[in-house]
Amino acid sequence: PDPMLRPEPLESDGEDRALRPQMLADFVGQAEARANLRVFIESAKMRGKAMDHTLFHGPPGLGKTTLAQIMARELGVNFKMTSGPVLARAGDLAAILTNLEARDVLFIDEIHRMNPAVEEVLYPAMEDFELDLVIGEGPAARTVRIELQPFTLVGATTRLGLLTTPLRDRFGIPTRLQFYTIDELDLIVSRGARLMGIPADPEGTREIAKRARGTPRIAGRLLRRVIDFALVEGDGRLTRAIADNALTRLGVDHIGLDSADRRYLTLMAEHYGGGPVGVETLSAALSESRDAIEEVIEPFLMQQGLVARTPRGRMLARLGWRHLGLDAPRTQQD
Ligand code: ADP
Repeated sequence: PDPMLRPEPLESDGEDRALRPQMLADFVGQAEARANLRVFIESAKMRGKAMDHTLFHGPPGLGKTTLAQIMARELGVNFKMTSGPVLARAGDLAAILTNLEARDVLFIDEIHRMNPAVEEVLYPAMEDFELDLVIGEGPAARTVRIELQPFTLVGATTRLGLLTTPLRDRFGIPTRLQFYTIDELDLIVSRGARLMGIPADPEGTREIAKRARGTPRIAGRLLRRVIDFALVEGDGRLTRAIADNALTRLGVDHIGLDSADRRYLTLMAEHYGGGPVGVETLSAALSESRDAIEEVIEPFLMQQGLVARTPRGRMLARLGWRHLGLDAPRTQQD
């Protein structure tokens, strides 16, 4: 599938750094999470303490990294960033932790992919701001305790279920991010067009918002591609016709599904009579990793009510059949 349409980050996303909201007030959507964070940030500032450890979970591209950066900026502290798979050894994490200044934000992306030995180091660090390091090997090994500056750990994960319970329990502020509404995405797209100096019709930005799969990262990418078409094939104005034409040529359908989404739905309908089908079977038939199916493809299809998860496997819902222009089998209930 076209990587441009997937919600994972791409190298080329760097160029939209200017579009990233800088403060909580610029951040569109996630109203509940935003309101709570505002209270916790203010309270931490009033008390002069490090803010509680915060866990963001939800599908890729919804603003987990952005919110972590905003937290650091609002708190007036440094922002340090790493990720679960990058922290190979306990010493890697220890080096980062011992370099933190008081109340800094340490962001660990994909925290569910941390090595267990590294995770062990994190527990006392999160709980008591202490590091227990083992120096030497065999009978000569000894543990030294190092005091750390109080800090705020912000973890991000696309798979809450893969976090170990002890790690999950150490986050005082667990926050689930939701897919964005079309109105929210429309605000993000309009703001983006304005920042890029492109005149845009309200119907034009709305068309992008409707087809952005509920995801700001995809909205930003589609906006940049639509602008290319507007400049080269139009008169530089973002209109509904330009947006529709560009998005259709990019393989994005009217509700924002891309080719990978449609392959998934079509496979369910044509080969499995609408299910139930196990995720491993789907993974083999689509040549997509199980992770990609569960983290990227399915959350949006389920949120849209096109697919349902049952104890016996995935089922194509009535809306899913309808989206393919097919009738659900008469036996199916949902
Ligand atoms: P995640 O960490 O959840 O994968 P990011 O924080 O990297 O997502 O956000 C992906 C992209 O979407 C970034 O370019 C960011 O600027 C943009 N973005 C995310 N949330 C918002 C928002 N609420 N308003 C505007 N842009 C957003």
